[in-house]
Amino acid sequence: QRGKSTYEIFAPAMHAAVVDRMELEGDLRRAVADDCAEMRVHYQPIVELADGKVAGLEALVRWQHPRRGLVQPTVFIPAAESTGLIVPLGRWVLREACAQAARWQAARHAADPLAPPLTITVNLSARQLQDPSLADDVRAALDDAGLPPHALVLEITESVIIAEPSAALATLAAVKALGVRLAIDDFGTGYSSLGYLQQFPVDVLKIDKAFVDGVTRGGPRAALTRTIVALGDSLALHCVAEGIEDELQRRHLQALGCGYGQGFLFARPLPADEIEAMICDGVAA
Ligand code: C2E
Ligand code: CA
Ligand code: CA
Ligand code: CA
Repeated sequence: QRGKSTYEIFAPAMHAAVVDRMELEGDLRRAVADDCAEMRVHYQPIVELADGKVAGLEALVRWQHPRRGLVQPTVFIPAAESTGLIVPLGRWVLREACAQAARWQAARHAADPLAPPLTITVNLSARQLQDPSLADDVRAALDDAGLPPHALVLEITESVIIAEPSAALATLAAVKALGVRLAIDDFGTGYSSLGYLQQFPVDVLKIDKAFVDGVTRGGPRAALTRTIVALGDSLALHCVAEGIEDELQRRHLQALGCGYGQGFLFARPLPADEIEAMICDGVAA
């Protein structure tokens, strides 16, 4: 804060980390200003646990950095959030994902007119919910892509809702009025308040990987997973279990009545061209 002269109070490693972070932010600013040309959207299938059929896809952003290579979102999303760059970046992901979903929907329908419609899931950060033009952006993305609103699912975490309930509620109501569906991401982590579930127009619960990891071991994690699935059931919400890595987990979750799953067992997040075949054949992995 005091400028260059105070740098010597930092350990060299800290100095390097600070410089690295500043450089990343500068690069991110440039990349977003450049119409997100270095950004890529990867897609991970969400499957029906009963038969492995692809029900939808989650859009997950990556950054093809000219020197750093493919940068994962865990590295740059926090910087995008703290700088506000997540608003234009998130808008770009949304538009890209809706356009891609509309193309896949058409290809899937051509291959099998009776195949159920695909859903596309896009993550939203808190900053995007504070943006008064979010609902207009969502509507424009759907219109320009020619994608029906019910094919889009927007994911938010519980922390986003708890942080600013009234602002979030107004924005989410406007988005819901378009016919878009809402999912709670990482459900069961961080906050224990369930009260918001009756206030917020939620359609999908995504059960965090932490529960999925514990489901085959019995004990409290398994008991909580069973309770979350029952809660979803009684509120008529879809449940998607995240981070399923093995067949035993899949079987346990299916036995609990969880309808959908996502994870490396089925497929990793992949570039669009590597997803196409799974969508038209229907079955992942
Ligand atoms: P998330 O929304 O909870 O996404 C799920 C993460 O779990 C993804 O990491 C995915 O690759 C990973 N995953 C899926 N299946 C498995 C599995 O079987 N095992 C393991 N170990 N991991 C699995 P990813 O792609 O690195 O994304 C990390 C986070 O970055 C996301 O967590 C999300 O919070 C954020 N993110 C990604 N794309 C966007 C975006 O476009 N906008 C916003 N706001 N956030 C995004
Ligand atoms: Ca997510
Ligand atoms: Ca998640
Ligand atoms: Ca997460």
